[in-house]
Amino acid sequence: MIHVEGLTKYYDELCAVDHINLDIKTGEIVGLLGPNGAGKTTTLRMLTGYFQPSDGDIQVKEFSIHENPLAIKRLIGYLPESAPLYKGMIVYDYLDHVARIRGLAPEAKQKRLKELADMCGLRDIMHKTIETLSKGLKQRVGLAHAMMSDPEILILDEPTSGLDPNQIIEIREIIRKIGEQKTVILSTHILSEAEATCDRIVIINKGKIVADGNTQELTAGKGHERHIQIGLLGADADAVRDRLKTINGVKSIDATAGGMAKETRATVICQGEKDIRTDLYTAIKQTDWVLVEMTQETQTLETIFRELTREN
Ligand code: ATP
Repeated sequence: MIHVEGLTKYYDELCAVDHINLDIKTGEIVGLLGPNGAGKTTTLRMLTGYFQPSDGDIQVKEFSIHENPLAIKRLIGYLPESAPLYKGMIVYDYLDHVARIRGLAPEAKQKRLKELADMCGLRDIMHKTIETLSKGLKQRVGLAHAMMSDPEILILDEPTSGLDPNQIIEIREIIRKIGEQKTVILSTHILSEAEATCDRIVIINKGKIVADGNTQELTAGKGHERHIQIGLLGADADAVRDRLKTINGVKSIDATAGGMAKETRATVICQGEKDIRTDLYTAIKQTDWVLVEMTQETQTLETIFRELTREN
């Protein structure tokens, strides 16, 4: 549904988005995850047609952002980080106003306002003034605005930023529900948010895509570092380092001896797909050391994120 190729954005000398390629299928909920300044908002703004790319192309269905920007805008609903609402208006009047701007006929308008009130949980606040609403409720009104013309694609920039835990869960539930029928792209720098809401996570760092997949794929990803903790009795730290570093797949070893238990502790950092625990065990068995512990640390999305965006 969305094909992004070589998408690039410069702000003067600064390359905020650096030749990214991305394909998004109909019905996916995709999370753009990255530290502050990674280029998420800039990417979303180019997708919505708000910013012209410096280079590259965006195709949505059969349309190109260069040739048919209006056709693409019609397919997209966009909720920026701070929803631009007329705060002095009553929710109903505001959404009625948005519906009229969007050209909905009176009958279609009534039907749509009812649907949006249900979809976004606005029934009880339709007659309240926007400025009296909590941030979570304002965000729901913003969502209803973005969904007014029943767009095929919904783009959300940091949709839960600044909300309390209950409001976050409510907004996530609404997004997941919308995602059952629509293609959703959202940005976040909160890992748990991406994990809880998205089918697929695209990690962006310094304007480049550094990982792409679901949580399972990302944590099992080839090439990621894995850490294996080893505890040995009767072993000298230097000897442990010398012996284990020769094993294929070991990247580095940090070994320290001593302590009350006279146990040598080693952290073996390995890289690659192969599980090297058997090789470690075999190498240790050939010595008179006593193996008292061997644990492979599980990779979480958090450790992957830190590994990929460490310099930030
Ligand atoms: P955040 O989570 O902090 O919003 P982000 O991942 O959305 O970050 P962007 O807002 O896209 O990142 O910013 C990417 C880089 O471009 C940053 O270095 C930022 O300072 C810079 N930048 C963003 N908008 C502009 C602008 N209008 N003019 C100049 N530089 C900008």
